[in-house]
Amino acid sequence: MSKSQFVDFKAVKAAVTMEQVLQHYGLLDQMKRSGDSLSGPCPIHNGTNPTQFRVSVSKNCWNCFSDCKCGGNVLDFVAKKEDITVHAAALKLCEWFNLPTTDKPPEEENEPPRATPPAQRTPAPAPTASKEKSQPDDGTPNVPLKFRLEQLDGKHPYLTERGLTPETIVDFGLGHCAKGMMAGRIAIPIHNAEGKVVAYAGRWPGEPAEGTPKYKLPPGFRKSQELFNLDRAGKEPGPLVIVEGFFGAMKLWQCGLKRVVALMGSTLSTAQAELIRKHTDSRSQVIVMLDEDEAGRAGREDIVSRLAPWLFVKAHLFEQAGQQPEHLTPEELHNICGGAP
Ligand SMILES: [Zn+2]
Repeated sequence: MSKSQFVDFKAVKAAVTMEQVLQHYGLLDQMKRSGDSLSGPCPIHNGTNPTQFRVSVSKNCWNCFSDCKCGGNVLDFVAKKEDITVHAAALKLCEWFNLPTTDKPPEEENEPPRATPPAQRTPAPAPTASKEKSQPDDGTPNVPLKFRLEQLDGKHPYLTERGLTPETIVDFGLGHCAKGMMAGRIAIPIHNAEGKVVAYAGRWPGEPAEGTPKYKLPPGFRKSQELFNLDRAGKEPGPLVIVEGFFGAMKLWQCGLKRVVALMGSTLSTAQAELIRKHTDSRSQVIVMLDEDEAGRAGREDIVSRLAPWLFVKAHLFEQAGQQPEHLTPEELHNICGGAP
């Protein structure tokens, strides 16, 4: 645990659900689910009445309608349960769920710890309360994250298996994540064009079991609004190389071809095209190097035709089906993309 003392209460409340907290205490199984609410015996006063303790999942809050006469959010729950301050509870939650603490006060104002959480004798909330919906891709920008995943293990063997050097792993802030939403995965920070972290992608280290996706992205994150590595690639000289995936981009970067961005897929969105336009001019060169498969070929043709009116665009065709940038040697990559090795 770091010596840091500051913690963003708002971020903790946003990151951790009551269900996760109950699960942490091994209490979730004894709760009964009905619509939006969970009910069970109160873990705070160790009650036996199976309906006195209620949780609203959507509001992420709880109430005890008996002896405690209390309620509140996840912080209040842990504070009561552990008999500690809300601040200490926040630090505990950060530790349990791998959330950051900082050695500086956060820019946003902290919510002051409340001496007494509001006791509301309201009936359990209606099950129609707002639910998290996956947002449509309407061009809304991604909001920078207020937290960082910490204690990522950059020495995980998967990263060296993929040919990344310790320097590249540090450059990109990669590491195996032990806890939280990306637990068991390699966390890859995604920055927006301004260099702010807007999401973490989680790559399963190796071939995932059936039904487990290779990549996990946070719900609500709009990858079509970003180009991976653009914040750094934008400042580099030479032709701009466009690849599909994170590892392809990192491989090129590692070979010294630092002006590289990844689409995080095989199609170029309108927003991504606009980003490229902003970071190039009519004298710029773009090399499209998508994977040599059906999706990659289709994406390649589309991208070339859309970028050609603005700048010099060249498509790289691999000799063999199934090939991708990661498969090429540094020499081959330099021959294709130019620049000194
Ligand atoms: Zn109680």
